[in-house]
Amino acid sequence: MNILLTGGAGFIGSNLARQLLKEGHQIICLDNLDTYYNPDHKWRNVQQTLNNRDYHFHEGDIRDSELVDTLFRTYAFDAVVHLAARAGVRPSVQDPALYYDVNVNGTLTLLQAMQRSGVSKMVFASSSSVYGDSPQVPFVETDTADRPLSPYAASKRAAELLCHTFHHLYGFDIFCLRFFTVYGPNQRPEMAISQFTDSILNGQAITVFGDGSTSRDYTYVDDIVSGIIRSLENLRGYEVLNIGGSDPISLADLIQVIERALGETAIINRLPMQPGDVQQTYADITKAAQLLGYQPTVRVEDGIQQFVDWYRARQDARFVMQ
Ligand code: NAD
Repeated sequence: MNILLTGGAGFIGSNLARQLLKEGHQIICLDNLDTYYNPDHKWRNVQQTLNNRDYHFHEGDIRDSELVDTLFRTYAFDAVVHLAARAGVRPSVQDPALYYDVNVNGTLTLLQAMQRSGVSKMVFASSSSVYGDSPQVPFVETDTADRPLSPYAASKRAAELLCHTFHHLYGFDIFCLRFFTVYGPNQRPEMAISQFTDSILNGQAITVFGDGSTSRDYTYVDDIVSGIIRSLENLRGYEVLNIGGSDPISLADLIQVIERALGETAIINRLPMQPGDVQQTYADITKAAQLLGYQPTVRVEDGIQQFVDWYRARQDARFVMQ
């Protein structure tokens, strides 16, 4: 397939691009290398695939409809994988307008370009955050997910609804995948697992929000990539699907897993829970299993070990280069 991959320079996108190229697809990546975290990280991600002749990188903004239209005219896309977004729950509380603009208007720009060019297939990166503090645990897609606790969560839910509308009006095939906290190589540096690993290795205190009892359904990035590729292979109609590990772990236990993987002990600095944070996430993956044959394959202990090994190898490589 000829695939437009938005946000392909980011954490999930770069892992997905590598796998799609391995499977023989052509990838056109659109990413503005935004400054949410250091763009050098993203540029390093892009370099992992830049030499592949089936990979084309375009630096640009999904909200730039002229540019997006040009891409649709230049390449005969079979499908769009739309990952570009302002990610992160807590910063969205400080700047809701930016999150709305990138995540909602940006998605609308793409959907309209698809309509103009006759491309009708999209896999959209949504988020478990849309469930808020759902009373129904594990979270199941039949929940209306109408209680987002942060502007980020609301922007993802709004984008899902736009996807539904374009399915209804124009017969688009769209799967909205609700990812549950993703981790692994190329991870965003501001995410907890990256921050904890970095601080523990440097002998610095880690900041823990709350008493450690919050839990997250951590999902290894290879399982997310598998969920996206299976969606591309089965795209028909409009579906909302949980893609998670379905095996949540508390923050306190997660820290112990990281400590064991590093062979070091964390120094903990506690702060109150942050606005926008949810108490727990936990994916019911029955629907993804039935529709896609999706099953998570990486246990948190193994995934953290792989992340830590990758992190250390990257540090060593930098040391050698200096
Ligand atoms: P990321 O920040 O590493 O990747 C997002 C990419 O989008 C970045 O490379 C960024 O430069 C790009 N981007 C941002 N605004 C853009 C714009 N206006 N135009 C073009 N490109 C733009 O984040 P990620 O963790 O890889 O997340 C990928 C997607 O998955 C996002 O939509 C995110 O909301 C969603 N998601 C991620 C997680 C997670 O735990 N990582 C969980 C749920 C959902």
